[in-house]
Amino acid sequence: MNTEIIATKTKNSKAEVEFVDGHILRAFLTEDLNPHISTCTILVEPVHSLQRYALDDICTIRLLDKVELNLPEDLVAIEINTVTGNTYRVKVSDEALVGNGFFGLPVDENTPYSLIFFTVVGIKSRCEVREVGQILRSQGVIESEDLEATLAEQKKLRERKIGEIISSQTSISHQVIEEKIEKAKTEGRHPRIRVGDLLIEEGLITKEQLEHALAEQEKGRRKKLGELLIEKGLITEEQLVRVLAQKFRMPIVDLEREIPNPHALETVPFEIAQRLKVFPLLDDGTKLVVATWEPTNYSIYDYLRFYTGRRIELVATTRKQIEDAISRHYAKASSLIDYVIEDLAVLEEKEELEEGDDALSLSESDSQIVNIVNKILIDAYNKEASDIHLEPGVGEHPLTIRYRIDGLCKIAHQIPNHYRKAIISRLKIMANLDIAERRKPQSGKILIKYQNRKIEYRLEITPTVGGNEDAVLRLLSSAKPLPLEQMGFSPRNLERFKSLLQYPYGIILCVGPTGSGKTTTLHSALGQINTEERKIWTAEDPVEIVQPGLRQVQVMPKIGLTFAEVLRSFLRADPDVIMIGEMRDFETAKTAVEASLTGHLVLSTLHTNSAVETIQRLIEMGIDPVNFADALLGVLAQRLARRLCDKCKEPYHPSRDEYEHLMNYYGAYWWERHEMPSYRPELPLYRRVGCSFCDGTGYRGRLAVHELLVGTKKIKQAIKERTSGDVIKDLALEEGMRTLLQDGIAKVLQGETDLDQVLKVCISSTVS
Ligand SMILES: [Zn+2]
Repeated sequence: MNTEIIATKTKNSKAEVEFVDGHILRAFLTEDLNPHISTCTILVEPVHSLQRYALDDICTIRLLDKVELNLPEDLVAIEINTVTGNTYRVKVSDEALVGNGFFGLPVDENTPYSLIFFTVVGIKSRCEVREVGQILRSQGVIESEDLEATLAEQKKLRERKIGEIISSQTSISHQVIEEKIEKAKTEGRHPRIRVGDLLIEEGLITKEQLEHALAEQEKGRRKKLGELLIEKGLITEEQLVRVLAQKFRMPIVDLEREIPNPHALETVPFEIAQRLKVFPLLDDGTKLVVATWEPTNYSIYDYLRFYTGRRIELVATTRKQIEDAISRHYAKASSLIDYVIEDLAVLEEKEELEEGDDALSLSESDSQIVNIVNKILIDAYNKEASDIHLEPGVGEHPLTIRYRIDGLCKIAHQIPNHYRKAIISRLKIMANLDIAERRKPQSGKILIKYQNRKIEYRLEITPTVGGNEDAVLRLLSSAKPLPLEQMGFSPRNLERFKSLLQYPYGIILCVGPTGSGKTTTLHSALGQINTEERKIWTAEDPVEIVQPGLRQVQVMPKIGLTFAEVLRSFLRADPDVIMIGEMRDFETAKTAVEASLTGHLVLSTLHTNSAVETIQRLIEMGIDPVNFADALLGVLAQRLARRLCDKCKEPYHPSRDEYEHLMNYYGAYWWERHEMPSYRPELPLYRRVGCSFCDGTGYRGRLAVHELLVGTKKIKQAIKERTSGDVIKDLALEEGMRTLLQDGIAKVLQGETDLDQVLKVCISSTVS
């Protein structure tokens, strides 16, 4: 007798192949499906192209033709949730899962599918349709009467009225509550007013008492059958775990015997394990095995999947085993923040000694506070963060510290909220700010020495609601200019951009939204021409990159040292090259254009989306089109996209649909003109996977995407004639410009990033 469902002849059957990314292909199967295949070859309709896919990319294969089946005797109905968000009710064999997939027979006979093949990667969760109570009953763990009594109790808890709870918790009788409700009814206020509010209004209970009762009600409503059975002593925790494991088809593990692999502990850090009450066992770079004692909690799966980028496999164990394993295995790992936490522990002790004292009286000069702040500053520097955000919580919520790394914010530490004032005050002292002033924004600089290096931070203190103050620190002068060759220019843009830098005069603009790396690019450009023969002045706000040879000025609008002011001073100071951090106003833009017409090379940035939009913006600002056209050497629009992690990115062959998708975004006409590759099944693309090097995200570092408009004769003429933006864009394309999107897609084809990232930075992140 076989134990699995076996389909004997699925070859040539018509099927819908659903991929893990959600797209669906209609096709004919060209081979028989069984649990042990690792690839699947199909004949795709309607083009009849033969395609081979890794089973890892497939979620389900839904057979449309009737097929011959060998069915085992014990079939169980289960509900399967797939990673694509679909739910299927199917009958499967009662055996444990082996191989890469299995068949399920649809419970509903009216579905168009005769049989569904599920892959292991495509399954998010499996759950037996039978209730926990039924399974316990069938296993003879509990008696019918006990089960029924407990179910009745659960029902009662779910329906418990707030009045009932209040009367059981306070001295107010049920009768009094009923009377108050009646009274409100006759006054026509019921049911708009809630019982709890009514009782508060009458002065019978306090707000706290009501909140307490509401919490009690919520707790009762959420109470699961298993919990009740344990409370009543009818089953043990182990028995419940076993039943839940059976219901959710999870293997049971004994954590006292299992040894986690070190990657698993890195991938799921202590804080996450503690919060989700899970214990990670294995991480092989793509799959993460995690033990839970709450198989019913789907959010654990979703969170881990999102957080680690891995395929999650949950296994079951008891709560006690998880708690023991966490304290046993994580104690060994230590990181800088552990020292911070140790410091906090010392502080907590100290506080207890000074009982009665307000925790807020913790002083900013306390050596532990000094240490914590120093460690955060150094930790962020070591992690190559560009900014540190300190965000006080409200009430019990912790002070959250987020780092911006590679352009994205991520929570780095959470510290008990009562340290917030001392920590913010300490930062203010380091930056020579007024610690008594807590209602107005303040800004300053912090300089620390670490390993013979000076690290500089710009601090911005902003008052926020609830009498709090947020602090944001930007790490300055830690950045070094990269050679232009390492900036991710396409060879063609690099050559064109370099040649623009050789002109003795004219203006070059680098444009894009905040955080698109404009200043870094300008510094790399300056690095290229920073030679003894040239005098280079820069005006910046703030000075983020320092280069020997450049004469750099920090703009200070507060004391009247504006961009325009500094620029006028430069013109009297014998410059060859002038870099202006940003052209924010008409005056600065006008002076810059004039300077570039009188024998100086001027570099600057502008907060615009595209090369063409920059021209229009300057003319709208009031810049004379003729002057600007004469001055213009080029406009470089830039974005930063996340780069696929080199350690884990995975080659694959895109489907024709996906290829056409890329081509359509690029523009089919230009795709051909630019001789982009034509479709062939073995065309390689890369996709993200996630590993310990990239924090499981699949991305590591960033990559610039460019659009370079060169001020050619034709372009200059068009600007002078105030030609519309669209026409100028077409002209520039004709003359060889690639749009941001085109440059990005070319980089997708080179396997450096993916389309998601390119679309994100080229389409959604724009200046409004
Ligand atoms: Zn990686």
